[in-house]
Amino acid sequence: MEIRPYKPGKSALTGITDVIKLSSNEGALGPSPMAVEAFRGQGDELHRYPDGEATSLREAIGRRYNLDPSRIICGAGSDELFYNLARAYAGPGDEILYSQHGFNIYPIVAHSVGATPVTAPEKNLIFDVDAILDSVNSRTRIVFIANPNNPTGSYISGDELRRLRQGLSEGILLVVDGAYAEYVNRSDYEDGVTLVDGSENTVMTRTFSKIYGLGALRVGWGYCPTKIIDVLNRLRAPFNITAPSQAAAIAAINDTEHVLLSQEHNRHWLSWLSDQVQAHSNSGLKVYPSVGNFILVQFPDFPGRRASDANSFLARRGIIPRETTGYGLPDCLRITIGKEGEVKYLATAISDFVFSWGKSVK
Ligand code: PMP
Repeated sequence: MEIRPYKPGKSALTGITDVIKLSSNEGALGPSPMAVEAFRGQGDELHRYPDGEATSLREAIGRRYNLDPSRIICGAGSDELFYNLARAYAGPGDEILYSQHGFNIYPIVAHSVGATPVTAPEKNLIFDVDAILDSVNSRTRIVFIANPNNPTGSYISGDELRRLRQGLSEGILLVVDGAYAEYVNRSDYEDGVTLVDGSENTVMTRTFSKIYGLGALRVGWGYCPTKIIDVLNRLRAPFNITAPSQAAAIAAINDTEHVLLSQEHNRHWLSWLSDQVQAHSNSGLKVYPSVGNFILVQFPDFPGRRASDANSFLARRGIIPRETTGYGLPDCLRITIGKEGEVKYLATAISDFVFSWGKSVK
């Protein structure tokens, strides 16, 4: 009963049929058409159990990311991997550590195995390696870092990530959650593969829910040391990835052109939207720098201008951002980079929201 159930981004607004859903960081361009075709192609085989080991999918991931498929494990979303890592390596009396505005699943995962979730403060909404290391004690079993982080959009460099690993004792598992890794274009960013290769206690997780646009199918994967793969394979449900999901994910990962298009789309519109919103800084709006497929916008603490007011204003236009009160950021909204028309419509709506203040009583 200690679990505060996960609140997904809203997808509907009463009375509005055509909503613009910018609340769940779903890939703006949707999946590769080849993935959709592969998914449909499974229609005649639905009576067959899937390959429980997801062999072809792991091989496709291995080819694409230059990794040994025997050290890859697939999960029903990366979420399933987090749960199984916690089941394997933490329990009552143990602590699971993550940063102040870290991804909301981590505390749920901790409670689900009877462990205690512990947060360490961030600096300017950025993961603070020193604060995390200061929060480690003899009960700490797992440290989760989302890099880039949701909902802040911030990241830490490869050097910082290594410093984190070096500062943690061998008995602590480090989980590097790279759900948004494919979107990052910073030269000092590292996804964690070399860390996994260089240690026995580091795992990197990734997902098909974001840039590959397959959130509906629930496919994630982890790159792990062999001993951890062995443990996770014992814990996971035998047929955890459905056959249509495996087929679609393989097609998606092989369509490198679609991924490039999605990256290019995000690079352009992330920067465009950030600039558009930042142009209202005189009015008290703030955009935090993001390397993911979303931005975090802070609103002024003034009646009629707050994040909750913006949320209602946007809702009247059919736009659904993500409220971030549950992330300890009640003055912010997280907004996913959608299609071109959606991004432009949103930017206009935010301008109109700010403009509407002129009409309100000062
Ligand atoms: N990690 C982070 C940081 C996320 O934002 C999300 C999705 N919101 C996930 C993991 C989970 O993704 P999935 O279970 O769909 O793979």
